[in-house]
Amino acid sequence: MILAPSKFSPQKKAIGHAPRIVIVGGGFGGLYTALYLQKYHQLQNASITLIEPRQNFLFTPLLYEVLTDEMLLWEVAPSYDSLLAGTTIQWCQDWADYIDLGQQQVRLRQAEPLAYDYLVVATGAKTRPLSIPGLPDHALTFRSLDDVVGVKARLDHLARISSPVVVTVMGAGASGVELATKVADRLGPRATVRLVDRSEQILKLFPQGLRRQALRALKQRGVALHLKTTVDEVGANHICLNGEPHVNHLTLGATGTEPMPWSGTAVTTNERGQVSVRPTLQLQDYDNVFVIGDAAAQASPDTAQAAYQAAATVARNLAKISGGRRPHRFRYIHLGDMLALGKGAGGVCSFGLNLGGRLGGLVRRMVYLHRMPTNHHRFKVARRALRLVLGQRSART
Ligand SMILES: Cc1cc2nc3c(=O)[nH]c(=O)nc-3n(C[C@H](O)[C@H](O)[C@H](O)COP(=O)(O)OP(=O)(O)OC[C@H]3O[C@@H](n4cnc5c(N)ncnc54)[C@H](O)[C@@H]3O)c2cc1C
Repeated sequence: MILAPSKFSPQKKAIGHAPRIVIVGGGFGGLYTALYLQKYHQLQNASITLIEPRQNFLFTPLLYEVLTDEMLLWEVAPSYDSLLAGTTIQWCQDWADYIDLGQQQVRLRQAEPLAYDYLVVATGAKTRPLSIPGLPDHALTFRSLDDVVGVKARLDHLARISSPVVVTVMGAGASGVELATKVADRLGPRATVRLVDRSEQILKLFPQGLRRQALRALKQRGVALHLKTTVDEVGANHICLNGEPHVNHLTLGATGTEPMPWSGTAVTTNERGQVSVRPTLQLQDYDNVFVIGDAAAQASPDTAQAAYQAAATVARNLAKISGGRRPHRFRYIHLGDMLALGKGAGGVCSFGLNLGGRLGGLVRRMVYLHRMPTNHHRFKVARRALRLVLGQRSART
């Protein structure tokens, strides 16, 4: 997407009509901003438009649960139609291709340009491409809804094969560890699961307690850790690790992300391509434009937790500046770290508390239930979970 000023410079003028708020990207940053805006009576008359090309919101932290049949697709990927029903938010299902900061317009791929008074950009990140021979053809990524459906289908297929199978997960960050433990539980002891990373340890950016829990969970499941190991080539039935070929039936890539590409002269970016913003999350020189989430170079991690906290700040700041008041700085509060560590299990590390195993898994699910985007969706997910628990109880008795 291109973000550029036109030959007109931005004007600071009073808005003589109900403010038009346009949000680009309907992930944790964008969708939650739109929903938070609904709470501000100052913005009751504002028109709020969410530009998002996908049909479904992705609750990314819980995508792994789909692989082990613990959760269904509709729970982790509710449609925007259902989430936005009963709100005043208009969903524009399209790609934003160009943002003209001077004219205050978002040009769309299919529809007519959208004019805005206030703009929130939350376009997130995409899988970082790696130049490893065979990787694009033979490895699966785990980021989009299609990825989840594709990986699940491959695992279901491997589960039906009677001979031993080998799965390699590339990248021992959070996503790699979560994938490896879930895949090991899905396929059982007949499968060999490898977790490969170039560095010396897993979960480099995570606290010691959670790393220890993850190592325990990997060991319990017999996941083979290959650290200080480079993937040189990926084939249909083999993988080369540190120059040596090994039998392999499925490669899953969890090797990191990069922000959606930006071009144009209007914005400065950091070395990762994230847009520089002021502490209030406003774009330099443009008081009416905010950039948040993985797209922004902010002093917080690239996580859902940081994105929805930024969303709350931006919604509050929009209410403030539309009323002529000064915006607040964004202050990220780290609430802790959580990981899925196999079927029904998890690790939670928060404010000195370390929980693992089934209890960790339960607490993690409860926290994420609380974080679901709407009350209605939260209720539907909770109702299904309760039914499952009650069903299991009555089956036992
Ligand atoms: C598998 C997985 C597991 C994760 N687990 C965790 C976790 O456990 N905890 C955690 O805190 N974080 C987790 N994350 C990270 C978290 O999902 C991101 O940090 C978070 O989603 C960032 O929010 P965002 O709004 O910036 O971007 P996103 O949530 O990625 O949303 C960006 C949206 O913008 C849309 N978009 C992009 N370009 C355009 C365009 N040009 N026009 C219109 N729309 C556009 C996209 O379709 C997308 O819907 C995980 C990520 C993945 C992939």
